Formats: sequence, C-alpha cells, structure tokens
Amino acid sequence: MKLICIGRNYTAHIEELANERPKDPVIFMKPDSAILPKDQEFYIPEFTGSLHYEVEILVKIHKVGKHIAKEFAHKYYDEVSLGIDFTARDLQDQLKQKGLPWEKAKAFDGSAVIGKWVSKSQYASMDDLTFSLQKNGEVVQQASTSLMLWKIDELIAYVSSFFTLKKGDIIFTGTPAGVGAVVSGDYLEGFVECEPFFDLKVL
Ligand code: ZN
Repeated sequence: MKLICIGRNYTAHIEELANERPKDPVIFMKPDSAILPKDQEFYIPEFTGSLHYEVEILVKIHKVGKHIAKEFAHKYYDEVSLGIDFTARDLQDQLKQKGLPWEKAKAFDGSAVIGKWVSKSQYASMDDLTFSLQKNGEVVQQASTSLMLWKIDELIAYVSSFFTLKKGDIIFTGTPAGVGAVVSGDYLEGFVECEPFFDLKVL
C-alpha cells in the first residue's frame, strides 16, 4: 500500500509558510515504513532541529481505480481517519530551496501517524468535517474540510489520473494553518467533530 499526501490544500497554511498557491494539487508520497506502528513510541529523529506536526484528514481507498471521475470518487473510499504528517521543516526548507525531493523530510520512519478509522457514513458531509489538534491540552490547529482548495473527491480524481489507487491506500488530504514544532515531552491529541481519533506522546 502507499500513502499519498497532498500539500498546500488550505489557503491559510500556504500563507503561513509563504508558499506559492499551486495551480494543481501538490502530491508527494510516503512509503508504508513511514507509518508509526500502533502503540509504538514516537521519537524526534536526530536529523532535525525543527520537527513540525501537520494534522490532516485521511481517507482509505477500498477498491482499485484509475482515472476516477470526480462524480464517482465517493465510491472509492468508505473510511475516514485523522493523522499527522510529521515534517522535518528545517530539512524540507533546505530541500525546497535546492529544488530537491522532500522524502528525507517527510517520509522517514514514524512520520505518518494514523488514528482510528470510522465509516464516512456517520458524517453528513465529508466536505464539512471539523477537526483539530491539541498540543499539551491547547488547540493549535482547527479547521473544516470546507476550507480545502481541492475537496476529497477532486483529490481522488486528480491523484488517480497519475497513480492507480489500490485497496488500502491512504490519502493524507493536507494540513490547515497552525503548524508548529514539537519538543520532547509534548502530548498531541487529534479530534474529528470533537471525537478523539489519536493521541501521542513525543519523546
Ligand atoms: Zn502535510
């Protein structure tokens, strides 16, 4: 399986990193080895001095598809979760400046935190889901999928025009504003519509 990640999908986050607003979705991947195993502790990698959290809504593909039309995209996923796209921001900035790929900064072991999965049928609309991240009990990121530049169905259509989507693939749909650094000892909790989806101690 693969993890397909979307960058720059929320205007306020594009502005906070002073990035250009893209004409098309920005896509990158993480290998399955990036997934933090359930109940495994998360350690800040030694190669970064600026590890950032990025909370994101996740969807899990449940049937194979290529060139999926937007109108049919909802049929290709039935579960939703919340996760963190951990990013070594200092390393990513260096790579971006040189025009190099981001994998070292984004796809390292443990960089993909995945919360519990729930059926999307429990939500009235995937395009108006609220979610948030708390750090040490304080809200640091809070948004709604209604603020996405490209909605989930559009992302599935776009991604599948390049990559065959397979059962079990996970799409990280991009992070809203409020990203920031973690230090050892921080405690992160993610919520969708006020329901806890994951919690994590940073070591
Ligand atoms: Zn991200």
